[in-house]
Formats: sequence, structure tokens, C-alpha cells
Amino acid sequence: MSEELNNEIKRRRTFAIISHPDAGKTTLTEKLLLFGGAIHVAGAVKSNKIKKTATSDWMEIEKQRGISVATSVMGFNYGDYKINILDTPGHQDFAEDTFRTLTAVDSVIIVVDVAKGVETQTRRLMEVCRMRNTPVIIFVNKLDREGRDPFDILDELEQELKINVRPLSWPINIGAKFKGVYNIFEQGLDLFTPSKQTISERVEIEDVNSPLVDELIGHSDAVKLREDLELIDGVYPEFNVEEYLNGEVAPVFFGSALNTFGVKELLDCFVKIAPYPKAIDAVERRVYPSEESFSGFVFKIHANMDPNHRSCIAFVKVCSGKFERNVNYRHVRSDKMMRFAAPTAFMAQKKNVVDEAYPGDIIGIPDTGNFKIGDTLTSGELLHFKGLPSFSPEMFKYIENADPMKAKQLDKGIRQLMDEGVAQMFTNSFNGRKIIGTVGQLQFEVIQYRLLHEYGAQCRWEPISLYKACWIESDDNNALEAFKKRKHQFMATDKDGRDVFLADSNYVLQMAQSDFPKIRFHFASEF
Ligand code: GDP
Repeated sequence: MSEELNNEIKRRRTFAIISHPDAGKTTLTEKLLLFGGAIHVAGAVKSNKIKKTATSDWMEIEKQRGISVATSVMGFNYGDYKINILDTPGHQDFAEDTFRTLTAVDSVIIVVDVAKGVETQTRRLMEVCRMRNTPVIIFVNKLDREGRDPFDILDELEQELKINVRPLSWPINIGAKFKGVYNIFEQGLDLFTPSKQTISERVEIEDVNSPLVDELIGHSDAVKLREDLELIDGVYPEFNVEEYLNGEVAPVFFGSALNTFGVKELLDCFVKIAPYPKAIDAVERRVYPSEESFSGFVFKIHANMDPNHRSCIAFVKVCSGKFERNVNYRHVRSDKMMRFAAPTAFMAQKKNVVDEAYPGDIIGIPDTGNFKIGDTLTSGELLHFKGLPSFSPEMFKYIENADPMKAKQLDKGIRQLMDEGVAQMFTNSFNGRKIIGTVGQLQFEVIQYRLLHEYGAQCRWEPISLYKACWIESDDNNALEAFKKRKHQFMATDKDGRDVFLADSNYVLQMAQSDFPKIRFHFASEF
């Protein structure tokens, strides 16, 4: 293993910030970029929040999608570290996009609003992290506003996110009386100066019992702080980095992203404890980042909105070895060799052509329809990376051709949009009709619009009342066949020809689960 490669791997931190909309993800991202010197003024990062306005307000959504390309990946250097932040769409209709982005990161920071606590979107995203044992750090934001008691928040985090927590910083009051945070990880006191949007000076405290603390924050708050810290030590086991790396415990920080307060503490701890790129499982074998041969996979495809040039950017996560420009790589699915003259890297907000990239980095490859989500590129070896599951969609419609002259275009369009991961398609085994499943209403509009503008095809939606689609399997072939026979009207196949059961209600699903104990029902395509 070359030393250069090894050093590059160890200094990389590739992660995503996730939150329910409005918790402060964009603000926190921006402050992290400010610390990295990647931007110089606040307000430079555009939120890629897709605000759902009237359904016909397409151009607005297109524009907003454009913004999200620019902010898809933000790389910057911080001290000796190379940090890659992967942005995730805030709009819940694009949750599937977010799920897939989580397959390309090594860790996650979750932002929670101190007043609102854990919200729906956070809960769902955490489920994905738990599935993958992704290490998670939690940042409780907006401490400058009135909010909940920090101990209550910790309890809620544990219960709702189903993970043990360990506070590594602790607030002194909250809202108008917020005075700062005690940094448990580094044992120092950071005092908050409202309105001054600068980084506070840290006062190193060797012992919280020192009279200096009383002097700095007042006697009664000092007494309260000592009591709180004692309680924390009594209730929560000492922080253990290994447990964090295994996804068993989530360290918690408190602060205010808007006021740049508690952000540096978060970042400094993050670079120290967060994992660098680790081995990834392929179907064939485990692949280590330090291997000399390059490998990577496509986790996201972003279509360019220019209808005249149907060009896309395929986002490739480098898994092992060094990626180099203009070198031939094997595209495993098509078994073709390809070379890339203009791969781009994302530094801060700019896209630049790069000559090389290392494990943990994300490169953008201009594409004209060759790539699918999950595709592997290698120096030559036959590898298929695991871990790009599809999730059970929640909304369903039959898709029908509305222009008989354009059947071919429609087929091609649907196929490509599904490859891009816009939605999932199932073919009903009973009547052969095609069903599109999504996680949100907006995706149906995206599909219809793009079929028309990019493929010249027209589709029509017809209602189908379904509750969930789930993948089924069994070790007992007879049991599987019996199930399929009994449910033949509700059986379908996914794009890979796998069996999918279409349950029309929660009740039907539960009955099926209890009536057919030999069948396993899966809510993600990878099992
Ligand atoms: P996102 O949807 O998670 O990306 O949230 P944004 O970063 O866009 O923040 C949502 C709103 O909360 C914005 O109006 C921010 O100015 C505000 N905000 C973010 N952080 C703080 C904070 O620490 N304190 C207060 N008072 N407001 C904040």
C-alpha cells in the first residue's frame, strides 16, 4: 500500500448533514464552510430546499433543482483534513435521493431544533443510518431561542431515534438567558456573546469546581452546571469512540448555528472522531480503500434540465485506489472500458476538472445515459457494490401511454428515469400494467414533465389504491408459490424481476404476515 494513498485516506471525512426542514442544516453547512475558509461571507450557500408551491410552478422547481446540483457536494480543507459534505434535499418527496446519498457517506451529523425536538423526517433518515450502522453525531440547534430542557431533549433523542446518546457539550441556560456551553469533550467553557457573530474565546477549565467558573457565569448558574454535569456522569456512560464508530452511541453537541456558536466545537470533535473511508462490501468480496486498484460506484445521477442536451452528471464515490483522469476504467455492467476527460470535483461551491481523486471523494462524470444508479467502475476487476437499496414506496399510480404514436419514447423515458432513481416501477403480474411507486406526490409531476420535455412522450396517471409494496422471499419454494398463487392479483415484479407483494392496506399486510409465516416481507430491496 502506498504511503501517499494511505495518508490521503486517513485525512478524509465524507459525511452528510441531515435534518427535518428548517432545523438549520443549510446554516450549519455554511458555518462549516466558513471555518474551512471555503467561503468568506455568510449567505453564500443556497438552500436546496425545494419549496412546494402550486403544482404547475415547474420552472421554479427546475431552478431549485439547478441550485441543488451546485451544492450537491462541498469539499474543503480544514487543517490537515479534507472534508466532503454531501448535501441532501430537504423536501420529503426526494427522500429516496437522500437515502441513496447516505450510502455514499462514512458518517452523518443530524441537526435537531431544540424547540421542536425530533421530527418525522429525522426519524426516517435515522432508520436508514441504523440499518447501515452509520456513525451519527447530533447537533441540537437554536439554543439562542426558547426551547426544551436539554435533559428532555436527550431522552427524546434516545427514544425517538433509538440510539444511546452521550452529551459532549452542555448548555448553560437557554433562550434569552443562554450563556454558553461547557465543552465536556475538551473541558473548556465557551461563552456566548449574542449579536457578535464571531467565534468565542474558549476558557480552558481544569476543574468545573474552580471559582473561575462562578466568576464567569455567575454563582447560581455555576452551581446548576456542576449539578447537571454530575447528573450526566451518573446517567450516561463515559463516551467511547469505538461505540460511536459502531453506530451504538451518538455524541450530542448543543449550540446555535446562526450565531456560529458551538459549531467549532462540533467540527473540531468531528474531525477527530469521525471515521475515514472504510472497507465496503461488494458481492464478490470486501474492498479496502487502501487497495492500489481503483473502484467506485454511482450513487446519484443528476439530470441536466436543458432539454436540448440530455446530459447528466453521474456522481461516483471513490471506494478504493486512486482515480485518474483519462485512464481507462471498466464499466462493469456494460463491460466496456471508459475514460473520462473531464471528471469534476467539488471544492466549496465550484466544480473543477480534476486529475485525481481518492477514496472518500466524490467525482462528477458527465454522462449521456450510460450510467445507472449502483453501477460500478473499476480498474478491471469484476465488482458489484452492495448497499444501494430501494425502499418501499408509499404512493402508487398506474402509468399509461397518452400518445399512441410515442410508445417507444415513453418506454425509453420511463426506463431511463427509473435507472436514474426518480421512482420505482413494478409490473403487475396479473394484468401486466405498469405501476410507478414514489415516496411523494411531486415525483409523479417530475416524471410527467420530464417524459414530455426530454423524451417527447406523454403519460397519463390512473389511480390504484395500494398501501405498500414489499419484496418477498422464502426458503421454502412451495410456500412461496402458494403465496403467489393465493395473492396472484396483488403480485408484481420489480425492475430486476424480483417478486413484490402489493398490499392494499396495512390490515391485509399484517394478515399476510401472520397467515404466511414462512414468507419474509422486506421493506427495502436489499436483504
Ligand atoms: P434547513 O431547512 O435545515 O436547511 O434550515 P435553514 O438553515 O435554512 O434554517 C431555517 C431557519 O432557521 C432560518 O431562518 C435560519 O436563519 C434559522 N436558524 C438556523 N439556525 C439558527 C439558530 O441557531 N438560531 C436561530 N434563532 N435561528 C436559526
